[in-house]
Amino acid sequence: MTDTDVIVVGAGVVGLAVGRALASRGQSVIVLEKNSRFGEETSSRNSEVIHAGMYYPTESLKARLCVAGKHAMYAFCAERGISARALGKLIVAPSASDVAALQVIHDRGHANDIPDLEIIGPDRIKQMEPEIVAQAAIWSPSSGIVDSHSYMLALLGVIEDHGGALARNAPFLGATPIAGGFEVRVGGEEPMTLTTRQLILSAGLWSTQAGRAVEGLDPALVPETKFAKGNYFTYGGKAPFTHLIYPMPSAGGLGIHVTPDMSGHARFGPDVQPVDTLDYRVDESRKAMFAESIRAYWPGLDESLMQADYTGIRPKVGNALTQFEDFRILDQSSHGLEGLVCLFGIDSPGLTSSFAIGEEVASRLA
Ligand SMILES: Cc1cc2nc3c(=O)[nH]c(=O)nc-3n(C[C@H](O)[C@H](O)[C@H](O)COP(=O)(O)OP(=O)(O)OC[C@H]3O[C@@H](n4cnc5c(N)ncnc54)[C@H](O)[C@@H]3O)c2cc1C
Repeated sequence: MTDTDVIVVGAGVVGLAVGRALASRGQSVIVLEKNSRFGEETSSRNSEVIHAGMYYPTESLKARLCVAGKHAMYAFCAERGISARALGKLIVAPSASDVAALQVIHDRGHANDIPDLEIIGPDRIKQMEPEIVAQAAIWSPSSGIVDSHSYMLALLGVIEDHGGALARNAPFLGATPIAGGFEVRVGGEEPMTLTTRQLILSAGLWSTQAGRAVEGLDPALVPETKFAKGNYFTYGGKAPFTHLIYPMPSAGGLGIHVTPDMSGHARFGPDVQPVDTLDYRVDESRKAMFAESIRAYWPGLDESLMQADYTGIRPKVGNALTQFEDFRILDQSSHGLEGLVCLFGIDSPGLTSSFAIGEEVASRLA
C-alpha cells in the first residue's frame, strides 16, 4: 500500500492536466511544485494561443495531441465559463514565392484532421484585415486564445474536487523504484519521503534534472534540455487586428506573430533566441529585427509604439532548435519501469495539447 496512487512532478499546465486526467479516474493525486504557486514558469510565459494543429507532421504526437487538445480545451473551458475564444488566424504569405509553402501547411492541416482550413487570396484578406499586405493566406477558423491562468486553476480544481492536492514549495529531489511503485524524496522546508504507485515527470525546463534523479531510469533516455527564449513586445497604439496574424513559420518557431490578447491589445512575438541560462529579461536589441519582420506583412507598423513586454523559455530537446522534434512521452514500454511516465521537450503546442497529453498519460498507465 502506497501513500498515494500518483505523484506528478511539476504544476505547469501539463502537470495539472495530467493530474486532472488521473484524479477524474478515481486516483489519489499529489502534484509537487518547487515554486510557491502553480504555472509560474513556461505555462504563464507564452502566447496563450490555441493552435489548430497544421504545423506538425501527420501522425506525430504534436499533431494528434494538438488537434485533440484543442477540441478538449474549448469544451472544458466552455463548461466552466473560462475565456477561450476562437478568433481565427491568418498565416500570411507576403510574397508569391511563399505560396507553395503555404499550400504544404494547408494540405498537412487537412491530413491532420483540420478540415476547416482554407487558402484565401488578397481580396478576402483585405476584407478581414484591411492593413495586412499578403499574396495569400491560410484562414484557420479554429485557432484562438485562452485565459491560461483560469484554465490551470480549473484543472487544479478538478484535482482538488477529487481529493487530490498541490504541494507548493515542494521540490522533487529524486525517486527510487520499490515493490509496487516508487519512493519519492521531497525537499523544501518540510522535507519528506512519500510512496506512490505511479510517478509522472512533467518538469518543463527542469525535465533533464528530474529524469536523472530517478534511479533505474536509463540516462541515455533522458535528453539534454536546451533553452530557446521567446521575446515579446507589446504595442502601445490600438492594433487594427481582430484575428491572430502569423507569418510563415521559421526554424524552431512559428515566426513573429501578432496576437490580440484577452484585453484586446496586441502583442508581437515570440522570436527564437537560443540561450544558456534562464534569464527572463527581454532582449531589447531585437526590436528592430521584430519591426522588420512585422512590416513584411503590416507596413503600417509604428515602431516607436513597440515596448518590451515579457519573455518565455522553451525546453528544446534533440535538434529542436533547427528542425521538428516531437514531444517525448516515455512509458514502461520504452524505459521498463512500471508506473513511470516521463515528459520531455514539451514546447509549443504544449498549452494547446495539455488536456490531451493528460488523457494520453492516463491511457498509457491504464
Ligand atoms: C515563448 C513561448 C510561447 C508559447 N506559446 C504557446 C502557445 O501560444 N500555445 C501553445 O499551445 N503552447 C505555447 N507554448 C508552449 C507552452 O507554453 C508549453 O508547452 C507549456 O506551458 C509547458 O507546460 P509544462 O507544464 O510542461 O511546463 P512548465 O510550465 O514549465 O511547468 C513545469 C513545472 O515543473 C516545476 N518543476 C520543475 N522541476 C521541479 C522539481 N524538481 N520539483 C517540483 N517542481 C518542479 C516547475 O517549477 C514548473 O512549474 C509557448 C512556449 C513559449 C516559451
